[in-house]
Amino acid sequence: MKIDLQIQSPVQQIHSPLFDEHRVHVFVKCDDLIHPFISGNKWRKLKYPLLKAQAENKTHLVTFGGAYSNHLLATAAAAAKFGFQATGIVRGEEVDNDTLFLCRMHGMKLMFTDRESYRDKPALFTKYFGDDESAFFIDEGGASPEAAKGCAELVAELDEPFNHIFCACGTGTTAAGIIDGISENNLRTEFHGVPVLKGDFMKAEIDRYATALIPYHLHNNYHFGGYAKTTPELISFVKDFTAATGILIEPIYTGKLFYAIFDLIKSGHFESGSRILAIHTGGLLSILGMKERF
Ligand SMILES: *Cc1c(COP(=O)(O)O)cnc(C)c1O
Repeated sequence: MKIDLQIQSPVQQIHSPLFDEHRVHVFVKCDDLIHPFISGNKWRKLKYPLLKAQAENKTHLVTFGGAYSNHLLATAAAAAKFGFQATGIVRGEEVDNDTLFLCRMHGMKLMFTDRESYRDKPALFTKYFGDDESAFFIDEGGASPEAAKGCAELVAELDEPFNHIFCACGTGTTAAGIIDGISENNLRTEFHGVPVLKGDFMKAEIDRYATALIPYHLHNNYHFGGYAKTTPELISFVKDFTAATGILIEPIYTGKLFYAIFDLIKSGHFESGSRILAIHTGGLLSILGMKERF
């Protein structure tokens, strides 16, 4: 089966009185529209690892994630679509939720593992699949150099210039790919990452995967307390943004991303006339696990 998806995702302008006031233009690259479950950056990240698996005659994808992982579901759906078997090793005690239900629907086998063993993923892979010639290891969140290569392609798809490109950072792989893409295409666009986790490790993570040595910005103050942490202010922002633009976002990644962009515009961070592109990395299903926070 040919491993490909139509991924030239559309770019759409969004409007707000705030943007007019500061004379900036804001656009969204809607990677969430690539596929309902092989969503956004997760498809870009899986593309080259899957081609590599196929080239090595590996037919069984083994990957890792938390119980709400967008990456697990993307891998399950991609495996089903492109004819692989899939196993998801899930962190923590056995639970059920919408994400895991949809993983199973796509034929993924789930194995739950205690948090201690979960830390060493290569060891888990060897323990359970060391003898399985067909098994192919894909790290948590899909992080790998091949994954960054897939994300770099996003930049070549742009047919208009932007002064700034923003994206949310989890493992930092998508950010690394976009930075490489900016460099490969000789653009003067500035890259801005918005880490959704608390801590100062994101630069090191991005630099592990990026091959280009160009400067970029990280906005470390928009994690709202840490991964999947929210505040009432973030929740109302997500609600207001969605209602005002018709573009659904969620509180874990894209909510923090757009909150940061609005906040930076408010503080006069951008020159008048700036064209700002936000990457909508998808992952919308996660909002269903957070309904009680709204
Ligand atoms: C996984 C994910 C990210 C983070 O991507 P990284 O490459 O791990 O930094 C961002 N947004 C969404 C919606 C995601 O699901």
